[in-house]
Amino acid sequence: MRIGVFGDVHANFAALEAVLTALEAEECDVLVCTGDVVGYGPSPAECIARLRERQVPCVLGNHDKYVTLLADPSLEKLDPAVRAAITWTQGVLSMDDLRWLAALPFRFDGDGFAVIHGCLGPHRWRYIVDGPSLAEHFAYQDVPLVFSGHSHLPILGTQAPGRPPRLGFLSQARIPAGVKAVLNPGSVGQPRDRDPRAAAAVYEADSRTVRVLRVAYDIAATQVLMRQAGLPERFVERLAEGR
Ligand code: ZN
Repeated sequence: MRIGVFGDVHANFAALEAVLTALEAEECDVLVCTGDVVGYGPSPAECIARLRERQVPCVLGNHDKYVTLLADPSLEKLDPAVRAAITWTQGVLSMDDLRWLAALPFRFDGDGFAVIHGCLGPHRWRYIVDGPSLAEHFAYQDVPLVFSGHSHLPILGTQAPGRPPRLGFLSQARIPAGVKAVLNPGSVGQPRDRDPRAAAAVYEADSRTVRVLRVAYDIAATQVLMRQAGLPERFVERLAEGR
């Protein structure tokens, strides 16, 4: 079985289309989405429509959650620019799309793997980016393999029995049998590893190998839409830099 993994789409429809085309060419048997379909970007409705039409199993990201909240105290703590993008997104989505977002599960379980957005355990929006966060996540990981998003960085965390957890940047790897793994495919719509191309991963269950794809898309076209929508300039500029 070949699994196409992608997430952190962030309402970037041009990037999503490019990634779906690339995953189609890879002849994946199933696709899964690690959440954050919306937030930051200019095309939330288009991205939701495409995922619904393709019936891609998708989990709830923190931005997906924020968009479904109104007058919630947790929104007050957000960076004002993030909040501006959330408010703009709320204004352009239909009630039906908001309901779809609100109904996304925290976790999706497949055959031998689970999909989440952040981290297992009590801190669900913790970034898995270092030893302590990886160790906390693994303490709660009850399946061999987890696909996760949130940090927008393609990374692989592994833990062999009786050994300390290890974390590294991912381009391609083979996960040895009996080793626990958490894999982040990077971000479709707002990469942060200094490579502005959209990211996704292909996991081969039979050989336990994983490969990150980088897919060029029309960044300038997304930036034009963001400026037209009046989204914060900081989010527009970072797309071209991949940070
Ligand atoms: Zn995100």
